[in-house]
Amino acid sequence: MEVQIKDKSFQVFIREEEIKLRLRELGNEISKDFHGQELIMLGVLNGSFIIFADLCREVQSVKLLTSFIRISSYSGTESQEKVKEVMGLNDPIEGKNVLIVEDIVDTGISMNFLLKTLKTHNPASVSIATLLFKPDAFRFNYPLNYVGFEIPNKFVVGYGLDYDGYGRELPEIYQLK
Ligand code: 5GP
Ligand code: MG
Ligand code: MG
Repeated sequence: MEVQIKDKSFQVFIREEEIKLRLRELGNEISKDFHGQELIMLGVLNGSFIIFADLCREVQSVKLLTSFIRISSYSGTESQEKVKEVMGLNDPIEGKNVLIVEDIVDTGISMNFLLKTLKTHNPASVSIATLLFKPDAFRFNYPLNYVGFEIPNKFVVGYGLDYDGYGRELPEIYQLK
């Protein structure tokens, strides 16, 4: 299947059922790792809103708190060097287990910035869940605890990820042709 967004064509890359199955597996791992404990799932807006909604419903027997922040760092199809401010970190995370939920880790610059910022608030632990990871673009070596899919270094849209604001609602993940 193909979609056209503005000037670009995308082809289906990861299907809805595959994503669902993988998130169930990640949810089970998170449930095991944090069994009976309190965990703040911290979604990074906008891209994580779909994975967040699906993943949090795959987590069981954990005392879940849900919260969202925003960092803007990307426009068009190439990663920008500059990461801006973290906005909306209102809930106290001191002494708490935090699970950052992202749509994608590409160069890792945004996540690195976020990790540094969160650590100044002295959380008990910080873990990372990301639907997608581009290992060939990654420039850091902090661990990614829960990775949905490792993908090649090509631009993708759908399932929360946008191309200039469009395509987030697509139920599958599409890759630039
Ligand atoms: P970073 O390079 O800092 O790891 O990624 C920053 C942000 O760029 C991600 O949170 C995501 O919003 C965006 N991004 C990176 N790769 C892609 C991609 O292939 N498709 C889309 N739609 N966004 C991406
Ligand atoms: Mg993101
Ligand atoms: Mg984007």
